[in-house]
Amino acid sequence: MKQAASTKHSQNKLNASRALMRKLPERVFVDDDSRFRASLDNLRLSFLPDLVIKVKEAAEVGVVMKLAHNYSIPVTARGAGSSATGSAVPLHGGWALDLSGLKDVQIDTVGRIATVGAGVVTADFQEQVEALGLFFPPDPSSKKYSTLGGNVSCNAGGMRCVKYGVTRDYVLGLEGFLADGEPFKFGLPLKKYVSGLNLRDLLIGSEGTLGVITTIHLKLIPKPAARWTGMFAFKSEAAALKAVVGLFKAGVSPSILEFLDRQSVGCAENYTGNVVFEGQPRASILLIELDGRVGEVREQRKLLLDYMDGRAVAQREARKEVEAEKLWQVRRTCSQSMFSIADTKLNEDVVVPIEKQAELIRYTIALKKEIGLATPTFGHAGDGNLHVHIMYNRGSKADAKKAKTGIKRLMQKVVDLGGVITGEHGVGLAKAPFMAMQHTKAEITAMKAVKAALDPKGILNPGKIFEPFEVWDHEYVEVKLPWDHR
Ligand SMILES: Cc1cc2nc3c(=O)[nH]c(=O)nc-3n(C[C@H](O)[C@H](O)[C@H](O)COP(=O)(O)OP(=O)(O)OC[C@H]3O[C@@H](n4cnc5c(N)ncnc54)[C@H](O)[C@@H]3O)c2cc1C
Repeated sequence: MKQAASTKHSQNKLNASRALMRKLPERVFVDDDSRFRASLDNLRLSFLPDLVIKVKEAAEVGVVMKLAHNYSIPVTARGAGSSATGSAVPLHGGWALDLSGLKDVQIDTVGRIATVGAGVVTADFQEQVEALGLFFPPDPSSKKYSTLGGNVSCNAGGMRCVKYGVTRDYVLGLEGFLADGEPFKFGLPLKKYVSGLNLRDLLIGSEGTLGVITTIHLKLIPKPAARWTGMFAFKSEAAALKAVVGLFKAGVSPSILEFLDRQSVGCAENYTGNVVFEGQPRASILLIELDGRVGEVREQRKLLLDYMDGRAVAQREARKEVEAEKLWQVRRTCSQSMFSIADTKLNEDVVVPIEKQAELIRYTIALKKEIGLATPTFGHAGDGNLHVHIMYNRGSKADAKKAKTGIKRLMQKVVDLGGVITGEHGVGLAKAPFMAMQHTKAEITAMKAVKAALDPKGILNPGKIFEPFEVWDHEYVEVKLPWDHR
């Protein structure tokens, strides 16, 4: 009986692939290399798709989804595959749908609206926009690789969110295809739109589980005329994070406000060979950027320096772009430099209310002692979004056990502090075990009902967000990904 069902299943898959190859012969790839590349994201767990479809036109996505729906084939959309959570891996096989070929960009400089293909690389788009005197602020650190479709699907954040908000804040409309292949337009290239239910915002951050996005209408703003960067040292992590609250109270409105603990600063200093504050004991730091009109930046700088006077133990200012680059080096290198501690990094992107960050950092320092693993922490302190890392050696079962305990405790602490288990990476597979910590049963039931309504056969990115998954039960894949600089 079981064998008959399995034969029927295999035959169905074969018929589906044949139908797909008839419709889109030049877009389908079944070679090992294409399948392996599409089996991974930055979580580095591999689940092979049966085949990969690399579309070049938005309409082709409709063809793919109609067939997938008819034959009940799982479809996992992907952009650059830079997701940190396993959200882009085809957990249940089926078809990997690569959108990175959708590259159209149209910019309306008068209305300040751009219409882009889902596969446009974030940094390339920002460059085009800035050449026209406009600005698209969302800046995930993966921007040189990530696609705008991936950014929308994860509601990506970055350093500038403290002043400018996240990807969601710039999305005016989304076009694409539902699970059954029917086209949708949720929103239009218009700045005002309140017709019907807002399904656009439902799709943003849905990690490819509710629909496939092909085209995005984005809001643009004028490019700031001036920028200023400063770096401030503090005796302790808690002192730095208390200053974050204080400077907002003093009326400072930074465009970037990043925090690094002493563990992170130490890693970056060892990696680059440059000491951040010569002649000072190693300090926790805040890196701050101000932007806006020239006069505005001048006023903001004064407010900031007045506030820091007597609070920061040392400070550096950048007067030119090259000097600013030097200050940013510590932030840019701290993440990759952590691999000097251990070969594996659990990179969490938790958020707590900004007043609670000092308490969270005290907890991560205590956790380090308790589990005996390093917990270097840095991140977007201006919006309470700290990247807490737990470093361990994956060859050591004892280490893995400690890391597993550590992450569970960390997540519980974050929820207890009124925070959230993920602020920018999303849930995917890695955070799925903590969904019940974050959400009530009723909330999860409501989310599942939405999923069932839009994708009744459950073919879009199945296994993500809601199903239990333990990363510890799976082997990491040793592979160099485009953003690795180790
Ligand atoms: C070095 C590094 C730094 C990072 N820094 C940040 C950061 O600062 N901030 C941040 O927010 N994230 C960061 N990330 C995580 C990741 O880069 C972002 O989540 C990014 O938005 C993913 O884009 P992508 O094109 O790689 O999407 P993918 O990884 O390919 O896909 C991500 C999810 O979106 C879905 N998806 C992709 N395209 C579509 C589409 N067109 N339609 C429907 N679903 C789709 C996929 O199914 C998957 O669920 C970082 C990752 C790395 C490796």
